[in-house]
Amino acid sequence: MHFRRLKLTGFKSFVEPSELHIEPGLTGVVGPNGCGKSNLLEALRWVMGESSAKSMRGGGMEDVIFAGTSGRPARAFAEVVLQARTHDDEELEVVRRIERGAGSAYRVNGRDVRAKDVALIFADAATGAHSPALVSQGRIAAVVAAKPAERRAMLEDAAGISGLHVRRKDAEQKLRATETNLARLEDIMAGLD
Ligand code: ATP
Repeated sequence: MHFRRLKLTGFKSFVEPSELHIEPGLTGVVGPNGCGKSNLLEALRWVMGESSAKSMRGGGMEDVIFAGTSGRPARAFAEVVLQARTHDDEELEVVRRIERGAGSAYRVNGRDVRAKDVALIFADAATGAHSPALVSQGRIAAVVAAKPAERRAMLEDAAGISGLHVRRKDAEQKLRATETNLARLEDIMAGLD
């Protein structure tokens, strides 16, 4: 799936409607402390169905709504729109909106859906609110400091190939069992000669 555009309104520090164009390949977000880099990543996770307020650095989910500053009043709602192109080359638009006192509502391509439906869309290993493809500041330090074996595990996770090791082990076991059977069969056939 290719994420193409992220639109934020009233989400955390992004009080005015803001739009981020996401080009193919690796995207890095840089900027001074407190400019909203982590908020952007959180918006992406939130629209994909993040349900833990704690992992959004808030006490409750409504904390994602712009809380106001000395010069600007708080907002009544927050909305994040994610536009993507699916593996089947179809346009996908997911909208999540939260209103004070009314909770979250989702829309997919203009239709009201449940949180569960959104989670299903992003259920593969490469996307979703907990995708290893979303790398926060802390995790960059962890990647740099990791031992080679740990770093390899992280990269395999991000590439979505970590399950292959388990399957390889299974295949090796089956191969050994088959080799044993073959040897036994050869013994039996030698006895028949
Ligand atoms: P750093 O590099 O220091 O980690 P950052 O660029 O990742 O910073 P964020 O943590 O994304 O920055 O943004 C922090 C800013 O967002 C703070 O100024 C904080 O006050 C603001 N902020 C967070 N939640 C809200 C909210 N609900 N309403 C208004 N502002 C908010």
